[in-house]
Amino acid sequence: GRRGLVIGNWKMNGSRVANLDLLTALKERGPWVAEVAVCVPTPYLADVALSLQGSGIAWGAQDCSRHESGAFTGEVSAPMLAEFGCRYVLVGHSERRQYHRESDNDVADKAKIALAHRLTPVVCVGETLAEREAGATEAVVKRQLSAVIHGVGHCIAQIVVAYEPVWAIGTGRTASPEEAQAVHALLRGQLAAATVHARDMRILYGGSVKADNAAALFAQPDIDGGLVGGAALDAQGFSAICRAA
Ligand code: 13P
Repeated sequence: GRRGLVIGNWKMNGSRVANLDLLTALKERGPWVAEVAVCVPTPYLADVALSLQGSGIAWGAQDCSRHESGAFTGEVSAPMLAEFGCRYVLVGHSERRQYHRESDNDVADKAKIALAHRLTPVVCVGETLAEREAGATEAVVKRQLSAVIHGVGHCIAQIVVAYEPVWAIGTGRTASPEEAQAVHALLRGQLAAATVHARDMRILYGGSVKADNAAALFAQPDIDGGLVGGAALDAQGFSAICRAA
């Protein structure tokens, strides 16, 4: 079977002191059966890498440039991340799609360049509330994943997919386990049409995952773990989520 994976997405939170406190407390609570990682703001990558050395907890970034290098002020490249020993990079998080106008094509390019530098892209897909209410959930997530499938070709088996319904992010309103499973099954079917390895690929659920709803979500056959925002900032709660996967 697939090994569970729980990734904490710290978003734009933390400080050097708070991060070290959080990671110290987290390390004391591990290890877990599932694989665990944290995706942290860029300035903290080196601190976090050092703190997590030998801990079994992996780390990653929250975005990368779709360019290799050059005149792209403010951006961080995949080779730079790789240089630090980064394992994961989120691509296409809904906050990037919304606030930075990232297109499906941009997201596919980012996944592609991450893979070229041996990073594992965590490709985020998900519908807005308006799209769900319009009955467009399937079409939206299919379109988002399709761009990446076509962009990365046979490397598709190397990615992690995260289904994050936008209406569930930071709202305290999760998709029900059944609602989430339906989309996960759809996504796995789409992957299966592209690679024989689809059943070995991890598809994470994100959107208001907490210690008290994680087990029910992760019990679904196609939900292989979580991408956790707010609840990843508390060691006890995050550890409980990791234990549930
Ligand atoms: P919350 O867990 O805070 O809802 O955030 C989910 C998310 O966007 C993780 O990437």
